[in-house]
Amino acid sequence: MSNKNIVILAGDGIGPEITDAAVVALKAVEKKFGHKFDLDYRYMGGSAIDKFGVPLPDETVTACKTADGVLLGAVGGPKWDAQPAENRPEKGLLGIRSALGLYANLRPAVIYPELTSASPLKKEILDRGVDVMVVRELIGGIYFGPRAASDDGDSAYDTEIYSTEEVRRIAKVAFDIAMTRRKKVTSVDKANVLLSSRLWRRIVNEIATEYPEVEVNHIYVDNAAMQLVKDPSQFDVLLCPNMFGDILSDEASQITGSIGLLPSSSLGTCKAGLFEPIHGSAPDIAGLDVANPIATVLAAAMMLDNMGLNDEARAVEAAVGKVIADGWRTPDMGEGKRVGCKKMGELIADAI
Ligand code: NAD
Repeated sequence: MSNKNIVILAGDGIGPEITDAAVVALKAVEKKFGHKFDLDYRYMGGSAIDKFGVPLPDETVTACKTADGVLLGAVGGPKWDAQPAENRPEKGLLGIRSALGLYANLRPAVIYPELTSASPLKKEILDRGVDVMVVRELIGGIYFGPRAASDDGDSAYDTEIYSTEEVRRIAKVAFDIAMTRRKKVTSVDKANVLLSSRLWRRIVNEIATEYPEVEVNHIYVDNAAMQLVKDPSQFDVLLCPNMFGDILSDEASQITGSIGLLPSSSLGTCKAGLFEPIHGSAPDIAGLDVANPIATVLAAAMMLDNMGLNDEARAVEAAVGKVIADGWRTPDMGEGKRVGCKKMGELIADAI
């Protein structure tokens, strides 16, 4: 029996619905394995702006820093679009990643055999297999570099900056993960144009010498975007700078059938880690009970793994696999036995 303290950041839009469904699954794990999960609900994003005037209240950061795991829904929505750039919901997300030192974002993309018809790719391409782990650098690069807009609104810039240490630590994560998988790292950059990419490539090659068993390749980001839809089976671990990883992981998600299926974990210097679906707050379907909670449930499984509860994580993944195999589908998953968000959570909990 373990006692774990889990912070839930439900967030905005579909965030509360999908985290509620994941909590139902976590309660089933508690019951089956005899654990005690203390759930600590905190505010972040638009909901925090409404309550505290800021997207990331200090008390949220403090709670996350001492938690065993942090499960996030999603943040943002049109309600807060008029907020100044420094006080938008997304600032809460960037802020918590930075405050917790979460430099490594892991986004697995696998295809369930039953969902190949929901993928836009041809069956013969999918039959070669899709099992890609996108390892995205999360707190450096262009999303965090110096930026400015001119007073007259005529120009603006953002800056891509990477230090050798930032590249080194994320590259190590990618190679370590590759050692547990098919031992292949493909590093994504734009080294034909960007100096920051040349530095990235140099350091990745340096780290590669420490992992002689791992095959390393480099690919330009434009080619990576093309190859992902042409033949995703060629990729094992895809190591990416922040913005390239953001874009390519959304592309990888669509290959699997729906953006509502893919979880992610963000790890770094804080023991907790942050676990969330890769999609956003989907304001277009918020409150309709049609969102797919599977990405969030699988994010909860990644959280269990990070807390050392590996059998529990496998039980959650197996339950998701069973519910999909049994034909249950939220609307984004294509044809099948139609269910809403809440029911999908209950079915997964029952399967656990
Ligand atoms: P989005 O991911 O929210 O939605 C894109 C499309 O995918 C929409 O049609 C949506 O209905 C659908 N979708 C997303 N998740 C789904 C799910 N679980 N089930 C079924 N369909 C789903 O992206 P967007 O529309 O570009 O952004 C909406 C808001 O979310 C914005 O405010 C954006 O800033 C924010 N956002 C937040 C995060 C985060 O919190 N990590 C990430 C991306 C975007």
